[in-house]
Amino acid sequence: EKVLLTGGTGFVASHVLDSLASNGHPVVVTVRSEEKGNRLLQSLSHFGASNQVQYAIVPDISTKNAFDPILHDHRFTYVIHTASPYQLSFADPVNDCLNPAIKGTTYLLDSIHRLCPSVTRVVITSSSAAILNPPNHRDVYDESSWSDVSWEQAMQPEHTYRASKKFAEQAAWSFLEEHNPRFTIATINNTYTFGPLSRSLANSAKFSSAEVNTSNRRIWDLIHGKWRNPDGSACIPSTAPVFTFVDVRDVADAHLAALTASGQRYYTVGGFFSNYQIARIVDEEFKGVLGDDVLPNLKGQEDDFEEDKHWKFDVSRSEKELGIRYRGLRECVRDAVVSMLEFEKGT
Ligand code: NDP
Repeated sequence: EKVLLTGGTGFVASHVLDSLASNGHPVVVTVRSEEKGNRLLQSLSHFGASNQVQYAIVPDISTKNAFDPILHDHRFTYVIHTASPYQLSFADPVNDCLNPAIKGTTYLLDSIHRLCPSVTRVVITSSSAAILNPPNHRDVYDESSWSDVSWEQAMQPEHTYRASKKFAEQAAWSFLEEHNPRFTIATINNTYTFGPLSRSLANSAKFSSAEVNTSNRRIWDLIHGKWRNPDGSACIPSTAPVFTFVDVRDVADAHLAALTASGQRYYTVGGFFSNYQIARIVDEEFKGVLGDDVLPNLKGQEDDFEEDKHWKFDVSRSEKELGIRYRGLRECVRDAVVSMLEFEKGT
């Protein structure tokens, strides 16, 4: 069964692609340029999966009908939509983030509806941002919860990204109600996602810190001395506002399982974490490798995560219906660091 995967160069998509290829699916990935497509195929050839993967160029998902030629030319059974802007701030909230997130989703659904009747399921990468409601947290979060973030708040940089995820997901469910298409949808509402970097960055002379995706950036900063003062003392950033993480490989498995599970939201969380806990794990696992002048001295440092004062999460639906057995923080952080060190060395 052929799959269309949008945002193929991204961090989450890279792992979804690995899972799709391992499961024998032919895949068409969308990328924004020929250069990025070639780089992706090159990285896959090391993995031995390049012959079942093709790329198609979609420079901007917020352009109407951008997906039409691809959906016209292929008989897809499934579509996985991961492409969406994910940065900490945007110069122009509407054009740089909200439009690509929201219109990118509805235009894609519209093109599938008009042009590709063979599609049975569309899996959309939403986010825990569409579920969580800071600062007025609920006691326990699950798929029944929606963020209250408003369009007005979306114009403030600190809220733009999370609002984009809520409005994009709402737009997808509304599309289903209004158009009653042949396909159904499922959303993966993953929380902060860490883990091995996107394969398309591997073996590339062009690899630089700017290419490390937003959620992994904190681990990158830590292993590049940014959580340490010149005298070696720690300057660990606050973990707030989100204290939950999930391993990207579990997120990828969830996307695959959601191709055939029931069409609903799936909240995916591996557990609680704090930046202090990440620093402690990296210290225990990599101090010898990274040298003495990189990691912060953790003596006297306090963990800013207090479990008894914290909201809870219920991910029983993704465990039961998608069969996810969540990886722990140590495995996730360790493998992220290993991949960063490998990519930097160009191995
Ligand atoms: P990345 O930045 O690594 O991937 C985003 C992908 O979307 C890239 O391939 C990017 O292409 C593409 N993209 C962004 N804007 C456009 C656009 N206007 N037109 C075409 N393509 C575009 O981020 P992640 O892999 O982390 O994110 C993937 C998805 O997962 C997103 O939907 C994100 O919201 C969601 N998510 C991520 C979480 C995380 O912690 N990482 C947590 C929860 C949800 P290019 O690189 O070429 O710009």
